[in-house]
Amino acid sequence: MSIKLKGLGADFMDLSNKTLWVFDVDNTMILDVEHPTPFEDALKLWKALEKKGVTLAILTNVGRLSSRQVHQAVVKAGFNIPLENVYTAGAAAAAYVHNRKPGARCFIIGEGGAQEDFIARGLDVTNNPPIDYVAVGADRGMTFHELNFATKMVQKGAPIICISGSRDYPGIYLGYEDMYIGERSIVAAIEHATGAKAVTVGKPLPEIVVETVKILGFKVSDAVMVGDNPHSDIAGGNAAGMTTVLVHRPDNIIDFESGDLDTTPSLEVQSLEEVIAML
Ligand SMILES: [Mg+2]
Repeated sequence: MSIKLKGLGADFMDLSNKTLWVFDVDNTMILDVEHPTPFEDALKLWKALEKKGVTLAILTNVGRLSSRQVHQAVVKAGFNIPLENVYTAGAAAAAYVHNRKPGARCFIIGEGGAQEDFIARGLDVTNNPPIDYVAVGADRGMTFHELNFATKMVQKGAPIICISGSRDYPGIYLGYEDMYIGERSIVAAIEHATGAKAVTVGKPLPEIVVETVKILGFKVSDAVMVGDNPHSDIAGGNAAGMTTVLVHRPDNIIDFESGDLDTTPSLEVQSLEEVIAML
């Protein structure tokens, strides 16, 4: 057992009094949403937390699937969680737009998940001008027309939102297992063509993390963020003011930009089973 602690007060690190635990999904709970094999240490910690009676939630940067689809994947992998405690980057982006312009007309590049989350928030998802916001998620079926239309709408002044921020990611699409270009790379093309600068919505954006904790009815000081990625999970959790737990996974750390945010976890473990003794 190797536990590394940040030099913080005992209260901050007392995991026994935390009442909300927010988990990352890909490479933390399950391999990824297209390979939903659970990590046994995550399942054991999840069950121990359930037994303790704390609230469990999910905040994932996956933007190509809706909250409902992510919920299906984790439940199938053995994690009990109500659908309303599952937050995707698409749902976070929808909340971000809703907070600025309720009912906004949005053009979305994505595989359907973000569209579903935007509609669930009461936003007007449309392919026709006028467009208030352009939101871009990973989309392996994107056409030139869609990219061109998104670019034109941004040129006309629609703000552009990057739903999460991965340059590329592993997945299966139409039966092909491969690495795929992520939303950040699609957005880069639009930025290059227009000179506009996108807002990336998802972890590590602190607003999204704080919003999730607030919607669930908690304070950030009550909450723990658990994830595998220092640049998304840990940077976002730290910036929001949460206690952060980094689990070491040997592979598949997705590339994210975290800027100047602090990526040092409150606690770093080799296995999430190490955390159970600290509850
Ligand atoms: Mg992850």
